[in-house]
Amino acid sequence: MGIIIDLDCRMILDSRGFPTVEVDCLLDDGSFGRAAVPSGASTGTAEALELRDGGEAWGGKGVERALEHIRGEITDAMVGHDAIDQSSIDRVLIELDGTENKSRLGANSMLGVSMAVARSAAESSELPLYRYLGGVCGLRLPIPLLNVVNGGAHANNSLDFQEFMLAPVGAPDFPTALRMGTEVYHALKKRLASRGLTVAVGDEGGFAPDLPGDDAVLEELSAAVEDAGYKCGGEGEFAFALDVAASEFYRDGAYHLSTEANPLSAEQMTERYAGLVKRFPITSIEDGLAEDDWSGWQHLTATLSEIRLIGDDLLVTQTSRLKRAIEEKAANAILIKLNQVGTVTETLEACRLAQDHGYRVVISHRSGETEDDFIADLAVATGCGWIKTGAPCRSERNAKYNRLLRIAEQLGPDAAFGPLRW
Ligand code: PGA
Ligand code: ZN
Repeated sequence: MGIIIDLDCRMILDSRGFPTVEVDCLLDDGSFGRAAVPSGASTGTAEALELRDGGEAWGGKGVERALEHIRGEITDAMVGHDAIDQSSIDRVLIELDGTENKSRLGANSMLGVSMAVARSAAESSELPLYRYLGGVCGLRLPIPLLNVVNGGAHANNSLDFQEFMLAPVGAPDFPTALRMGTEVYHALKKRLASRGLTVAVGDEGGFAPDLPGDDAVLEELSAAVEDAGYKCGGEGEFAFALDVAASEFYRDGAYHLSTEANPLSAEQMTERYAGLVKRFPITSIEDGLAEDDWSGWQHLTATLSEIRLIGDDLLVTQTSRLKRAIEEKAANAILIKLNQVGTVTETLEACRLAQDHGYRVVISHRSGETEDDFIADLAVATGCGWIKTGAPCRSERNAKYNRLLRIAEQLGPDAAFGPLRW
């Protein structure tokens, strides 16, 4: 097979204009894999550490130290390994780093290498990445969760919830789902513009209008779905998904919403969600409660088990956090972000553990992205049935959607679509 003969790396810019790591992996059979590392804004505190230089240049966000690690000890440790041994390669990286949260080498340097190795091994195997990672099973195209209204830490409007997403759950296949979602995105733009609301876009390509609150956004989305000629809920084509990112407004054991005079308890937040779920066809709520509010999560999960309650900051793609959630019945779904854990193997393990315990899996981008489309292949390979990668706008988001269109074309009309189990 293909033996790693060299790693190359460089700084490139991400979608927010911050430096990030890009890695090339070269094998002795001439195969080559390139990967770039994404970066979050509303990061969970338990995420693996992204190594930044600090200091003056780039506002402290330089990645020179991460690159030096790759050029030095990581290359030394990787050269001579068979690229197909992904799990042993990732184990070597983890042992070389030697810390709990990848703080010595940095999860950004490790993930860039881990992904580039996977890509080069796929090329060496003459397989597309999704088939190399997924094998013969599990090749399902995901339902896109299109984040069309941005708030929270991703926009400078007054919305507390970070993401309001369209879920074209009634679409027959991925290309149709993307077309329908994009039509609603354009219908929404028209509605907002006609009322004099801003249609400038946030970090993930969604609009960031100053609407008065979460219900007002969901009403606009419902109207935009109808404007585009579709229906919501029941037999309709569309449902909605929320990422509340509640850790961002959790302080002193309570939830501080800008629309409420007093802070809310986890029980009160749960009641609020139950009210929204009654009024609108909401298929999932991500990070409805804060990352350390485990008892709150237990209550939320017991109360609203009919929808997907996704742990992002809560679980940070790490099996140790997911094991606790399984034991304590907190959340029933997991958001998967490669850079929260820092290697491809650990990411796949988190997916496997979740699926083994009936937790639904959603593959996700970060708010800071690049043109790298690895997660599109990962979503197909895991067969999880869901991907969240922003609005159908901004090329770093559309890179993933466009890759999924190409995969759909390759797999043909018989490609499975959506989750095997809702
Ligand atoms: P992040 O946001 O990449 O800024 O963490 C995405 C999310 O919270 O899901
Ligand atoms: Zn999130």
